[in-house]
Amino acid sequence: MSSLVLEHFLTENLEDLNNNGLYNVIDPLQGANDFMITIAGKQLINLSSNNYLGLATDPRLIQSAVEAARIYGVGAGAVRTINGTLDLHVQLEEKLIAFKKTEAVITYPSGFICNIAAISAVMDKDDAILSDELNHASIIEGCRLSRAAIIRYNHSDMTDLRSKAIAAKQSGLFKKIMVITDGVFSMDGDIAKLPEIVHIAEELDLITYVDDAHGSGVLGKGAGTVQHFGLSDRIDMQIGTLSKAIGVVGGYVAGKRNLIDWLKARSKPFLFSTALPPASVAPCITAIDIIKNTPELIDRLWENSRYLRKGLQELGFNTGNSETPITPCIIGDEKLSQLFSRRLYEEGVYAKAVVFPTVPRGTGRIRNMPTAGHSEALLGQVLDVYAKVGQELNLI
Ligand SMILES: *Cc1c(COP(=O)(O)O)cnc(C)c1O
Repeated sequence: MSSLVLEHFLTENLEDLNNNGLYNVIDPLQGANDFMITIAGKQLINLSSNNYLGLATDPRLIQSAVEAARIYGVGAGAVRTINGTLDLHVQLEEKLIAFKKTEAVITYPSGFICNIAAISAVMDKDDAILSDELNHASIIEGCRLSRAAIIRYNHSDMTDLRSKAIAAKQSGLFKKIMVITDGVFSMDGDIAKLPEIVHIAEELDLITYVDDAHGSGVLGKGAGTVQHFGLSDRIDMQIGTLSKAIGVVGGYVAGKRNLIDWLKARSKPFLFSTALPPASVAPCITAIDIIKNTPELIDRLWENSRYLRKGLQELGFNTGNSETPITPCIIGDEKLSQLFSRRLYEEGVYAKAVVFPTVPRGTGRIRNMPTAGHSEALLGQVLDVYAKVGQELNLI
């Protein structure tokens, strides 16, 4: 017999989500997550992937994956510290060291796990973490796990960060203080003010931590937000994902040798979760080479992003403060956002609504993710659909 308490909890909470338009229906794709996708037999223009450069379906990456699986099998067989570390993992980490221009790199099974692993290995209950209020959920989980005091500062508000950092410092309560931020904010597409953050951090001896999941492959010639600002030697911990622009799966921390040595010795997922599979590691290596050797790919991503953003703005939509390819179309009401997304779907455009708790209540939006794989003609079709649905719902 199932637990009555659990039954009651689930029924009540699921009903609540449904009634408030907060329940997310998941549509499985039939085939690849490319610039066109198929759902329930219907072809759609895809504006919801993080496959920024189209690498998830690149034949060269597929080739690398197939070869690696043939040679190494499909599983790494163990955690990294027992004997799951393959020469491929070391090659990928060396590739990332050169790409990120840091002394050392450690990879993890995902970006989410990276944050859980790295924050909790470095910070503890005697410490404090200054965290941007719009930081990604995995950062917040990592902070909680560390048991450090979490001090939220207003989004990209440097005056607020500074005064909270000074107060934390002067309180004398904390051994270490960290400031942690997304490099590119995942739901709004704005860039963290890293030069100012570094300035404050150097003045007050804060540890700097940048989660660059959406900056890697997009900014700084693909090397990320930190290199975009020329700050490679002034950020202590850089996090990246291999799941977005790189097109595969995995995450990594880049930093000084001793930091990475410590994470290899103490971060729990490195010690207790099986290493990335060979067919995921090999295509990441190929992807980094492609990004380095084909700057046109990133150029195309940015051209497409500018085209879509400008088009949406000209139609009268609110695209927020984005400075990157993440192109939100802010609608506000949660149910209306869901309805808008459903109408786009019916008209052949797959652009998912993002609502509370992923974004603050009342800031529901359609989050558009143009990629290097889209053509301008295809994005033109998207704008026509936006115009039609926007007028129909009295939004423009
Ligand atoms: C997507 C994302 C992650 C998680 O990365 P995965 O590799 O998908 O687990 C972490 N941080 C930020 C800021 C992200 O946008």
